[in-house]
Amino acid sequence: AAKEAGRANHQFFTPELNKRASERMWLESNLRHALADNELELHFQPQFAVDGRRLVGAEGLLRWRRRDGTMIPPGQFIPVAEDTGLIQPIGDWVLGEACRRAADLLARGHPLLIAINLSAVQLRRPGLADRVAFWLDAYKVPARCLELEVTESVLMDESDMVSGTFARLREMGVALAIDDFGTGYSSLSYLKRFRVDKLKIDRSFVTGLTDGSDGGAIAEAIIGMARSLRMQTLAEGVETEEQFGGLARLGCDQIQGYLLGRPMPYDDFVAFIARHAATPEAVG
Ligand code: C2E
Ligand code: MG
Ligand code: MG
Ligand code: MG
Repeated sequence: AAKEAGRANHQFFTPELNKRASERMWLESNLRHALADNELELHFQPQFAVDGRRLVGAEGLLRWRRRDGTMIPPGQFIPVAEDTGLIQPIGDWVLGEACRRAADLLARGHPLLIAINLSAVQLRRPGLADRVAFWLDAYKVPARCLELEVTESVLMDESDMVSGTFARLREMGVALAIDDFGTGYSSLSYLKRFRVDKLKIDRSFVTGLTDGSDGGAIAEAIIGMARSLRMQTLAEGVETEEQFGGLARLGCDQIQGYLLGRPMPYDDFVAFIARHAATPEAVG
């Protein structure tokens, strides 16, 4: 009888709501085990200096590989991780994994800059700077090999927690980049409060370089502003030679995108490096 009542309850939901709710429940309960069961992987997408197309770094991007081989993209499970608080242990794992790989690259003679993404949730809780210091020390990685990417919304947060954390990271020598720059808030006042090393020009403006929209004008404005504020620029989502050429003419410093390399498992990235002479100047 209890079983029948359970079945009957489902009829209060519409089919779509029911499907979305059950997908979410599936994600929640399985994400809890993904970390413990080693189902998370950090893939690496190469980043290049426009000048000479020299490999200078990589962005670590999270992947969830299920035991049945299916891959769940971060866009699907990061929001669930943020809502459930699981982003704390997952984010800490990403930080440790990035440092472990950076150390391995150093040992192989490749001092590359490894960037990872931080969620706003990670910055609003105490202890992030301590965890960064812990992992750098655990793997003996110099702070200058690590870059943290945050979105504009994080920097709009005027709390002492966020500014205190950034001050400490800055003191340690960790680099800070603003991800998806230009898609968030219209106020740039936070650029006065936080010293930022790099602006990552959002892919939408890169696409706009060649599709006849105003994306090119926006990319140009971002590059000009970054230059006068002594920040570097990296264009995301560069897929064509035409886009690369346009960005080079505008004076963009670095690029990342399918044109020069997709995100790949670490072992593939090591093989990728072997095909591109990485130079010791990569990290200053
Ligand atoms: P993001 O940090 O802006 O990362 C760039 C996204 O663009 C990645 O998607 C990458 O695979 C994709 N991409 C790179 N080059 C190209 C290109 O040429 N064309 C196109 N169409 N796409 C390109 P991905 O890996 O699915 O990640 C999506 C987002 O998930 C990331 O956006 C980031 O916000 C978030 N994310 C990924 N890993 C982590 C993580 O470890 N922690 C947190 N908090 N968020 C993460
Ligand atoms: Mg990113
Ligand atoms: Mg981005
Ligand atoms: Mg993004």
